[in-house]
Amino acid sequence: MSRLTIALSKGRILKDTLPLLREAGIELLEDPEKSRKLIFPTTHPEVQIVIIRATDVPTYVENGAADLGVAGKDVLMEHGAAGVYEPLDLDIAKCRLMVAGPIHAPRVDGRLRVATKFVNLTRQFYAAKGEQVEVIKLYGSMELAPLMGLADRIVDVVDTGKTLKENGLEPMELIAHVSSRLIVNKASFKRKADLVQPLIQQLSDAVSRKRVS
Ligand code: AMP
Repeated sequence: MSRLTIALSKGRILKDTLPLLREAGIELLEDPEKSRKLIFPTTHPEVQIVIIRATDVPTYVENGAADLGVAGKDVLMEHGAAGVYEPLDLDIAKCRLMVAGPIHAPRVDGRLRVATKFVNLTRQFYAAKGEQVEVIKLYGSMELAPLMGLADRIVDVVDTGKTLKENGLEPMELIAHVSSRLIVNKASFKRKADLVQPLIQQLSDAVSRKRVS
């Protein structure tokens, strides 16, 4: 039986985390991108990996269903993730959380309508500026909302800005720089320290080596 469960999500995080885990002696026996399985054994007899939605990673780790996880800072800030430790910035899947709107958008009179999947973050951002806005929850394709007249602005993560540009939008305000973080369940951090501590150290070393190379 695996003593340690690590929660990851498909896409960028998986692609960038696997090489770091490999340096810590943990390799998947099967490619999760090509499988519908959710639980994967690894070359490390005590470690298994579960593949879940990115937004569910903090929930699994907070509740101890997974001992460790990798999640974007955007997802962690939106979730709250108060019940987990965040010992390591993995320096991967980097992007920026931004307000965007139509190119050369005119000033909006009255209450700004902002479409996003990051409703908590967006409310906090505008509240801190003392601006009252209407936040519209969406689950994807935020770029479409201003084009269809659903919203004046969006809040989304931006990497190259190509997606915004191709949809007639431009970045307007930076909310936060984002990268993926290692998160650890608080009880596992203590109770499974014999496995967790060396793993954090090995991942930290792998991140440092990658930074200088
Ligand atoms: P871009 O390079 O700005 O065109 O980004 C391509 C798409 O990927 C956009 O829909 C972004 O919201 C999304 N994206 C960019 N970087 C990340 C990231 N680190 N994590 C999750 N989604 C991202």
